[in-house]
Amino acid sequence: MNDEFSLITRYFKNICTSRPDVRLGIGDDAACLTVPPGKELLVSCDTLVSDVHFLPSWSAEAIASRAVRVNVSDIAAMAGEPNWLLLALTMPTLDEQWLTAFSYGLREALRVFDLALVGGDTTRGPLSITMTIHGLVPTGKAITRRGAREGDIIFVSDCIGAAALAVSFFEKNLPLEERAVLWEKLIHPKPRLDLRYILQTFASAAIDISDGLSADLGHICQSSGVGACLDWEAIPVHPLVHKYQGEQAIPFALSGGDDYELCFTVPAKQVKACFEALAKQQITCYPIGVIEKKLGLRAKTATGDVIPIEMKGYQHF
Ligand code: ADP
Ligand code: MG
Repeated sequence: MNDEFSLITRYFKNICTSRPDVRLGIGDDAACLTVPPGKELLVSCDTLVSDVHFLPSWSAEAIASRAVRVNVSDIAAMAGEPNWLLLALTMPTLDEQWLTAFSYGLREALRVFDLALVGGDTTRGPLSITMTIHGLVPTGKAITRRGAREGDIIFVSDCIGAAALAVSFFEKNLPLEERAVLWEKLIHPKPRLDLRYILQTFASAAIDISDGLSADLGHICQSSGVGACLDWEAIPVHPLVHKYQGEQAIPFALSGGDDYELCFTVPAKQVKACFEALAKQQITCYPIGVIEKKLGLRAKTATGDVIPIEMKGYQHF
């Protein structure tokens, strides 16, 4: 293989899932894509940098898989359906073994989500992966961070904390089975596309938990101009976080990111119907608190005390 174009063809063009809404994919100056009437386009981009978002020791397949999934999660958080992906890949050398594994992981993830890779860019430099994802949502149905109102009930879509535990225990010798569970949570987070109709029908606001529940619920509160009070005991924490963090399990889960579960709010009068719709789809979501007028984040403990919670999570700067 001797040039950039054969590299692109071999590792990226040839792995493409075809979709009828891609009129022109990889190979021209731009892709040409069809947005159907009645739909709006959602666009989001995420960068994964070596040593920041993953370790150089991770397999290329794992890096590709995680990169696609965190991007898909942003579309899930808007109640959309992902369809097109662009990949800007920067790598230090032309390592064919690494590229083969990366391309394999990428192809698998594209298939899982019926995503078409429609373009990108390939450059030399320190390893970094930027993906731009596109998705569709029926016009007017996108759920933003801005719609939470006093009295809305706050939900989280599953147990949290496992991916953060995977990161902090990376070097630790855990029993193999536990290690596998945590690694799976980190590498194959499940973007909650299954909640799309629930969100479109009932949610007033939504966000995916990438930086930690306290930080991400904080974003909903700040964007919506409200505060929140959580029920401390109701926060669903992964069993392994309970096992290894003990008393600190809930604070650990609140501030640890990377789970890519959703946090969303539902107006009180819609909650009953929302639970019925969830049950019909056999999905369990957990009510964890209520939106209040008073700004800031706090939690009510089992003894009835109200404790303040810092809205902090991972920050790059
Ligand atoms: P241009 O010079 O016009 O920007 P490039 O030579 O960078 O185009 O890329 C040629 C084609 O290959 C384009 O369609 C581009 O979108 C696609 N492409 C380049 N790198 C990648 C990649 N890593 N993954 C997917 N498509 C890529
Ligand atoms: Mg061009």
